[in-house]
Amino acid sequence: GGLPDGSVRTVLLASPRSLCAGVERAIETVERVLADRGAPVYVRKQIVHNVHVVADLRRRGAVFVEELDEVPDGETVVFSAHGVSPAVRAQAGRKGLRVVDATCPLVTKVHVEARRFAARGDTVVLIGHAGHEEVEGTLGEAPRQSVLVQTPAEAAALEVDDPTRVSYLTQTTLAVDETSEVVEALRDRFPALSGPGSDDICYATTNRQHAVAGIAAAADLVLVVGSVNSSNSVRLVELARRQGTPAHLIDDAGGIEPGWLHGARVIGLSAGASAPHHLVEEVIAFLRGLGPLRVREHRHTTETVRFAPPKEVRTNER
Ligand code: SF4
Repeated sequence: GGLPDGSVRTVLLASPRSLCAGVERAIETVERVLADRGAPVYVRKQIVHNVHVVADLRRRGAVFVEELDEVPDGETVVFSAHGVSPAVRAQAGRKGLRVVDATCPLVTKVHVEARRFAARGDTVVLIGHAGHEEVEGTLGEAPRQSVLVQTPAEAAALEVDDPTRVSYLTQTTLAVDETSEVVEALRDRFPALSGPGSDDICYATTNRQHAVAGIAAAADLVLVVGSVNSSNSVRLVELARRQGTPAHLIDDAGGIEPGWLHGARVIGLSAGASAPHHLVEEVIAFLRGLGPLRVREHRHTTETVRFAPPKEVRTNER
C-alpha cells in the first residue's frame, strides 16, 4: 500500500467534512432521550444514514424500526433527521406515541415551503431521488399536488394541470450543479416557475461539495467516508468522478481496497454529513501505517451553524 519508491504520500483533507449541524442534533437527541428515559428508545428509520452511528446507538439501547406499527402504543419514538410526512405524524397520534422530532430544521423548512406552495394551488415539483426518506416525507405534505422529478429530461417532459402555477423545491442533499440543470429545464418548460426563497440544498451539502471540488483535480484518488444510503456522501463521490478522478465511498478504513492505492501519491479525503469525524481520523491513521504521509487541509470555509435540540429534550440542559 505504500508508494513503491518510499516517497511521501499526501492526503488532501477537504474541509468542511463530516458531521453537519442537523446530524449532530439528531444523534444528540437520541442520546438525550436515552439518558432521560432509559432504553429502549424507538427510532423511526435510521436516525441518520450512517452504519456506525446506527450501530453505536443500537448498542446503547435505541431500537430502529421501519414503520410506527412496530412501536408499542404509548411509547416514545424519535423521528429521524430526514423528516416524516403528515400521515406518519397522524399515525403517531393515533397510537398515543410520545414523539421527539429530530427532523433537521433545514428539512422542515422545505416542508413549510411545500405547504405554502400547495395552499396557493400550485403543482409542487420536488427535485430529488425516488425512494429517499426525505423525499417521501416532503411529497407527503401535499401528495395529490406534488410530483417528483429526477432529471432534466423528466423536467422537460412534465405535464401539469396549469403550467402557469408551478413551483419547485429540492431535496437538501443534491448536487448543486446537477440541480441547477433540472431547474433550468423546468424554467424552460414553465416560464412562470417559482421557487424557494433561498436554496433548498443545505449549507452543509453545498460546502462539502465545494471543498471536494477544490481537491479532486489535484488528487490521484478521492476517498469519501460515508454509507451507501447517504445521499450527500454519494454526491461527493460522483462530483469527484465528474472531475476525472477515481473516487470511492467507504464506510471506514476497512473499506479501502489495496488496489486503489497503487501509485496514488495524492489522496483526496472527505466525509459526508452523516459520517463521524473519528472515521476520517482512522483512515488517516491507516494510510500512515502504510508509509510516510503528509496531511494538508484544504479549507473551503468554516462552518459555525448549530441547531438547538428539539423542545422535547431541551429540559435538563447539560
Ligand atoms: Fe440538515 Fe443538511 Fe445536515 Fe441534512 S445534510 S441534516 S439538511 S444540515
